[in-house]
Amino acid sequence: MAQSLRTHNFYFMTNQLSDRINNLPVSETLAMAAKARELKEQGKDIISLSLGEPDFNTPDFIKEAAIQAIHDNYSSYSPVDGYVDLKKAICEKFKRDNNLSYQPSQIVVSTGAKQSIANVAMVLLNPGDEVLLPAPYWVSYSAISILAEATYVEIPSTVEADFKITPAQLEAAITPKTKMVFFNSPNNPSGTIYSEAEYRAFAKVLEKHPNIYILSDEIYEHINYEEPAFSFAAIESMYDRTITVNGVAKAFAMTGWRIGYIGAPEWIAKACTKMQGQITSGANSIAQRATIAALQAPVSKIKYMVDEFHNRRDIVIDLIREIDGFKLNIPGGAFYVFPDVSAFFGKEIKSYKIENAADFSMFLLAEANVATVTGDAFGAPTCIRISYAASEANLREAIKRIKEALS
Ligand code: GLU
Repeated sequence: MAQSLRTHNFYFMTNQLSDRINNLPVSETLAMAAKARELKEQGKDIISLSLGEPDFNTPDFIKEAAIQAIHDNYSSYSPVDGYVDLKKAICEKFKRDNNLSYQPSQIVVSTGAKQSIANVAMVLLNPGDEVLLPAPYWVSYSAISILAEATYVEIPSTVEADFKITPAQLEAAITPKTKMVFFNSPNNPSGTIYSEAEYRAFAKVLEKHPNIYILSDEIYEHINYEEPAFSFAAIESMYDRTITVNGVAKAFAMTGWRIGYIGAPEWIAKACTKMQGQITSGANSIAQRATIAALQAPVSKIKYMVDEFHNRRDIVIDLIREIDGFKLNIPGGAFYVFPDVSAFFGKEIKSYKIENAADFSMFLLAEANVATVTGDAFGAPTCIRISYAASEANLREAIKRIKEALS
């Protein structure tokens, strides 16, 4: 009785929630990480390869800058768009790493790149606008588009094509309602990197459609094992309608510090500042001071982490290749592999019926004690995402377990 009352109340209360939240999918990356944490707390020996976060500590020189900021009493509200000296440091970073010229008035610092992206979507999208998402794409792009009451349109790709879309596909997806396209290179979840020539071919298509804005998410720029990633806004004809998103979470092992930023046309930056001023205000003051130290340091200071990710990528690829049924591309960057596992669909393994990637991911959790993320969340329902931002020992053990569970 008590149980059914509780259930009843739960449904009653859910009905009181807005359509906005009821229609919003949960973040699958965060949900899987929470599930893995919960199972670990229950005493299960789970290896979590679900969340994309470096397993390194934030480098000491960045921590020192934060401690100094506390001593220097950086304890009041910061300017909504970020401290001026941080914005200058961001402009210098854009010049140094991306060949992009921005003025501080074009920069907005936010609470993580996720908020940066949400700001941009909220200020540019109207109900009914279409957002093009080359798939696979990071889980929150679609959710943020829904929150902005826009419609997202997936442009599919395959593992055989290294998860790249073609200019012809981009062109075919454009309609009079298209307002934005999201690019993300290196890509989460596939690790795919678009070359300058490939980006220029997309730009040729977009030049014919002057009303489309481009969000270029470059958060994985430094986690790159190939040539330096090319910034979309570095294409002259695209600069005035591209928003470049970046942050310190991935490159500097600062996921919890929550600092992201954009470089954008000034009118878009101003609108994002207005939006943020009503929702969260300026990002955490101490984390902003620490970010100055991070961005002013030579990129060589974080090379040891990138080298380690590179090493792990090679190990993971070699080990996964030994498992029948996994189809892989070679990710050029980020810290994920995104195998196509559709060979297992329609099979029954150890009394688990595998109909789709979600079933497969749940099977791995239950039978191998390994947490991954289903590809549906990334617009690629035949794949699963495995994060290799974990220790080499854990990666070896996890893949051994997966192999055993499937044998
Ligand atoms: N971006 C990371 C991931 O994809 C962090 C989790 C999230 O915010 O989605 O795992």
